[in-house]
Amino acid sequence: MNHITLALSKGRIFDETLPLLKAAGIEVLEDPEKSRKLILPTNQPGVRVVLVRATDVPTYVQYGGADLGVTGLDTLIEHGKDWGGAGSAGLYQPLDLQIAKCRISVAVRADFDYAGVVRQGSRLRVATKYVGIAREFFAAKGVHVDLIKLYGSMELAPLTGLADAIVDLVSTGNTLKANQLVEVERIMDISSRLVVNQASLKLKQQPIRQIIDAFAGAIGKN
Ligand code: AMP
Repeated sequence: MNHITLALSKGRIFDETLPLLKAAGIEVLEDPEKSRKLILPTNQPGVRVVLVRATDVPTYVQYGGADLGVTGLDTLIEHGKDWGGAGSAGLYQPLDLQIAKCRISVAVRADFDYAGVVRQGSRLRVATKYVGIAREFFAAKGVHVDLIKLYGSMELAPLTGLADAIVDLVSTGNTLKANQLVEVERIMDISSRLVVNQASLKLKQQPIRQIIDAFAGAIGKN
């Protein structure tokens, strides 16, 4: 009953959360890249890690499949928009972990006149995984957009003529550069957040508080 389940996604978030877990005295005992297991034990018998898709972390935590999770602000906001009014109900967001930092930007082919399209009020075809964020951003600018939902390799869309622009995560900018795309707008800065199920926080207050406090103390130390 008092077990704690932490939802993480493989890759950047898992790797960058490990030092924070260590600060909380928690060590994951298996390498997710080598194991096929979806539930990973830790050195603390009462704490386990579940591996889920990045976009599923808010869902797991919101509905109590996990007590805590680490998720990008991009995923969290998009989750809130997908689920309408019930968006983030039950999801407590106590900490900006300042890991997996990047930004959500608009990018186009270097030869595309984005400023001209915006100025003239023409329609813009935008491919993105972040349909909710993109819709709101362009609506606020008064730009008419046709949104095309993609699940990956967004950079291909302007190169193949599928879209005029993309809305995607940018970190170093190397991926855009390698594909002859240029960043024309920064929509928002992104980092990963700790999210906690509100009922869990009440029912398992002591162990969860301990983890939140240890994470808080370790932020920015790596
Ligand atoms: P970069 O080439 O460093 O600008 O990285 C851009 C590529 O990495 C894009 O395909 C992004 O979707 C992905 N990316 C960058 N930062 C993150 C992040 N914090 N979390 C997940 N994916 C990211």
